[in-house]
Amino acid sequence: MKKTIKTAISLVLCVAMLFSVSAIGFSAADENLYCDGSCEYCPTVIIPGLGQSGVFVVDDNGEFVLNKDGERISAFPAYIQLPKLIGRVALPVILSLLTQSDIGLTNALSDAIGMAFGINSSDLKAQNTGNVVTEKYHKPYSECTEAEQKLINSHIPFHLYDTDLPKDHLYYFTYNSFGNHIDLANELYEYIQMVKRQTGHDKINLVPISQGGTLASAMFEYHPEVMDDLHKVIFIVPALDGSTIIGDVFNGRINFLDKEYLYNGFLENLGLLDENTARLVEILLRILPDELLMKGLNAAASTLVEDIMIRSTSMWALCPSGDYPTAAEKYLSDPEMADIKAQTDKYYQAQLHRFDNIKAIQDKGVDVFCVAQYDHPLINVGETWDTQNADYIIQLDSTSLGAYAAKVGETLPEDYVQKNTYCQNPDHNHISPDRVVDASAGLLADTTFYFDGQRHDLTQHNDVILKLAFHLIAHDDITDVYSSPEFPQFMNGRDVRNLHTFLAAAEAVDVSALTAEQKAELEAAVKQAEDTLDNNTAPADAFGKAEERLSDILVEIGAMEEIKEKKDVPALEAISLWLFGKFGTDGYSEIIISVLGPVFKALFNAIGSALK
Ligand SMILES: [Zn+2]
Ligand SMILES: [Zn+2]
Repeated sequence: MKKTIKTAISLVLCVAMLFSVSAIGFSAADENLYCDGSCEYCPTVIIPGLGQSGVFVVDDNGEFVLNKDGERISAFPAYIQLPKLIGRVALPVILSLLTQSDIGLTNALSDAIGMAFGINSSDLKAQNTGNVVTEKYHKPYSECTEAEQKLINSHIPFHLYDTDLPKDHLYYFTYNSFGNHIDLANELYEYIQMVKRQTGHDKINLVPISQGGTLASAMFEYHPEVMDDLHKVIFIVPALDGSTIIGDVFNGRINFLDKEYLYNGFLENLGLLDENTARLVEILLRILPDELLMKGLNAAASTLVEDIMIRSTSMWALCPSGDYPTAAEKYLSDPEMADIKAQTDKYYQAQLHRFDNIKAIQDKGVDVFCVAQYDHPLINVGETWDTQNADYIIQLDSTSLGAYAAKVGETLPEDYVQKNTYCQNPDHNHISPDRVVDASAGLLADTTFYFDGQRHDLTQHNDVILKLAFHLIAHDDITDVYSSPEFPQFMNGRDVRNLHTFLAAAEAVDVSALTAEQKAELEAAVKQAEDTLDNNTAPADAFGKAEERLSDILVEIGAMEEIKEKKDVPALEAISLWLFGKFGTDGYSEIIISVLGPVFKALFNAIGSALK
């Protein structure tokens, strides 16, 4: 009897499994869930950039690992378990400091990097080996839970923009930035098919952002049939020819491994530390002899590059085509790397065909737009960081599909003539007002919008870029950079976070308690802030002025605390520069020996001659 029940249960289970498999296979169940395809909007698939997807650490049973606040732990860019790390490095650091020699220090640093980034490592088939789960949304934004929407908004603040875009036509494609690139490109293709089924529309808008550009590029190459599924493509600072930072790192051109630069210049130019902190770190670095420090840094960098990055095909997709052959030769020639190389070679072809593939999309009648940013050097990790115009993370040549630009801080020569590589209209002036960029040399000369001085990692805080993207998604009236005076080809970089914070503070003020003068000034300052936000072409300094005026009155009426500007501590800079000038890159123990050595020598000589 028991056996019969068991058999019956297994039969039911088998049937259930069969049905669930067929449901995945045919997927008819998700047809026309959110629209029957008859509305005026095209569904839109956003492919976010590096680290803009929720990728979380799980245990061996696939359960989320939680932090002490009960929250899931992000695996991007690393999974840092501080007690474990300290346990690994504490003793070697103490011993090496005491002896001023390598008592296990380099091995410990290398292990620490491996422990933190190991969660994102891959095997020799370029498949992730770490215990991570990517949060996926097989549904539009409107159907996401509050927590899911919050996570999306933390990367791209949709919630701040009141657009007429229907949120049930907006999809956010998530992926692991260290993931298998070919699998992700295939998954993106399938995702687009799912979106078509769920909405009943046969065409979608695609918005690839930064690293997302590499996935779009791969998909166009591997699934050219997807071109028939597109209504519009809106690239936002896409890494279509990778980032020179990765090109430098993969070719061994790493700046902080240059001793002289590490002790003077690297930290100041990094863009992440203020001058005081940078100088303080420089002073502290000397606690170790320079040779030992460089050995440790070299070991840590090699672990990160050789054990993690070069096994990730998504990282390889960020290597510029010009840097790929030498880097592949360096790291992927070994027979054991053959599987990975076959995959990266495949993407290299997609990268080389990026212009042709985009032209093929345009030939299908699809409008293709692009947003690019310039007037920053690259972050100074790679040796060629200041040789190209960039947006701190990606060189302009990559994001703009070939626009020509002067170096950062320079302008095009007086007698410079527009190249007109991709614009045949003699009436068009594609030189930026600041005479830095020639947009006519970019593939999408008439449909690329440029933002001066906009940092890549702050793109999501530029409200004009978001408004432009939302407008292009929802409407078809803008067909090029000449369609709307609201969105000309060249605009300024901006970061609206401060103004939004100040305006919220102003909103909360009880005006009945203010003097007439204060009330008038607050109103005027709020108006200036709002006008600045409303003006897409506001001059570069308009934000600073509006912020200052509004914060001044908010501080005066006690609605906000004064923001104290950090003062430079000139002593720190002076000490660091003095040490550098006097002792080069020597550590303190070496400095003591070099200072005291001659003293002792003189002393011994004196004693010696006295005894003669
Ligand atoms: Zn619809
Ligand atoms: Zn033109």
